Amino acid sequence: MQIKEILSLSPSNQTITAKGWVRTKRVSSNVAFVALNDGSTIHNIQGVIADGTVAEETLRLVTTGACIALTGILIPSQGQGQSVEIQVTDIQVYGTADPEKYPLQPKKHSLEFLREIAHLRPRTNTFSAILRVRHALAFAVHSYFNDKGFFYLHTPIITGSDAEGAGEMFRVTTLPTTNPPMTEDGKVDFKEDFFGKETNLTVSGQLEGELGAMALSKVYTFGPTFRAENSNTTRHLAEFWMIEPEVAFNELEDNMNLAEDFTKYCIKYALDHCADDIAFLEKRLLEEEKNKKKEEQSELSLTEKLRFVTENDFERLTYTEAINILLQSKTHKQGKFQYPVEWGIDLQSEHERWLVEKHFKKPVILTNYPKDIKAFYMKLDEDGKTVRAMDVLFPGIGEIIGGSQREDDYAKLLQRTKDVGIEEESIWWYLETRQFGSAPHAGFGLGFERLVLFVTGMSNIRDVIPFPRTPKSAEF
Ligand code: ATP
Ligand code: MN
Repeated sequence: MQIKEILSLSPSNQTITAKGWVRTKRVSSNVAFVALNDGSTIHNIQGVIADGTVAEETLRLVTTGACIALTGILIPSQGQGQSVEIQVTDIQVYGTADPEKYPLQPKKHSLEFLREIAHLRPRTNTFSAILRVRHALAFAVHSYFNDKGFFYLHTPIITGSDAEGAGEMFRVTTLPTTNPPMTEDGKVDFKEDFFGKETNLTVSGQLEGELGAMALSKVYTFGPTFRAENSNTTRHLAEFWMIEPEVAFNELEDNMNLAEDFTKYCIKYALDHCADDIAFLEKRLLEEEKNKKKEEQSELSLTEKLRFVTENDFERLTYTEAINILLQSKTHKQGKFQYPVEWGIDLQSEHERWLVEKHFKKPVILTNYPKDIKAFYMKLDEDGKTVRAMDVLFPGIGEIIGGSQREDDYAKLLQRTKDVGIEEESIWWYLETRQFGSAPHAGFGLGFERLVLFVTGMSNIRDVIPFPRTPKSAEF
């Protein structure tokens, strides 16, 4: 029986077995107390071992990190913090953990250190809580879309199109690294490669998602995406999970409504289903913030921050309006932004965070960006200068969603592909959907880890995915 379930039982002297990993063992005169955790909940079950009930040699093997089964009688707990405990009659040791070598001793470990032992860190309270919240959020994603009549579309992970331009790509090849076949003009001959062409790991499932929407009307993807971004930030991974809904007949406004409703639903789902874990993470965050300067400490607790997002409307404004607000700001006038502000720039993280955290103090949706800083497939506005793009910006995170209404006019889309230098042959299939039954449609991409970051109150994206992939780091 899972420890979560055991903890919810009412004790009636029933015999019970709990299996898990020892968090701590405490010996006081003639009793030993063992805190056991199996990852099903943040809470441990306590085993009480009276002197003489278990062989000395066995009890000696019960150390932090060991995997054991505790069998005994479930009784009301005398101690604080739990309602029941096990009066142990028998212990089975599955696997010992040498206390001289086991790195996770019961004390505070830094997040940096834990990253180096990602194979063991799920056994800590912090990481097991994060992983359970991550699971709940993933479940919420499917539940939301399923309830709304969306179909889960599996888009390819290996792609031959380099058209999106969303990020640097990882090549997929079976060609030998030494002496690969060459063409006459001295280039690697990808005709000889596995797929007979250059292929990469996908940076986004969007283009294929659009193909799905032009048949099933409402689809979403939820899969791994890969970007060889050589930027070592706290918000970027080389391998991350992206959720991309794509909806036929939706325009920009509908797209914003969907993005807002969807993120609120996911956050609310976590609040409703992960109360214990979020309460633990809230305390963790409070501790962490104590080390920060007063002005950097957040005014709201984690739960308050999450509730604030679910209960308030996101601020919606155009890129042009945002630029004007930035230009009027004291921060800009006093020259305190590191990067320049003027119409046409790609907003820097500092600008986005100022808008969200200092000015509006809530999530913001920016729309109608200049076409030159956005992807070719976004629908051109009537002014011919801006496109129907939208970015959703979150406090503490910055961009959490990027999306747009797509260009559905064949001639305009073809012109844009030419303008940005995409070869027609490489995305003929994408262009054809605008020739055969084209329809207005819109969608967006939500970086799943950025959502997990927000909900868990963690500050480094490496800590919200079990095994992070970042530049120079692919251990485990
Ligand atoms: P950013 O400007 O933050 O680098 P982007 O504009 O490159 O993001 P998009 O191409 O719009 O991002 O991708 C959609 C979403 O995917 C983003 O809003 C973000 O939540 C997420 N995302 C993008 N790149 C990464 C990454 N390297 N690691 C984790 N999430 C990412
Ligand atoms: Mn973006």
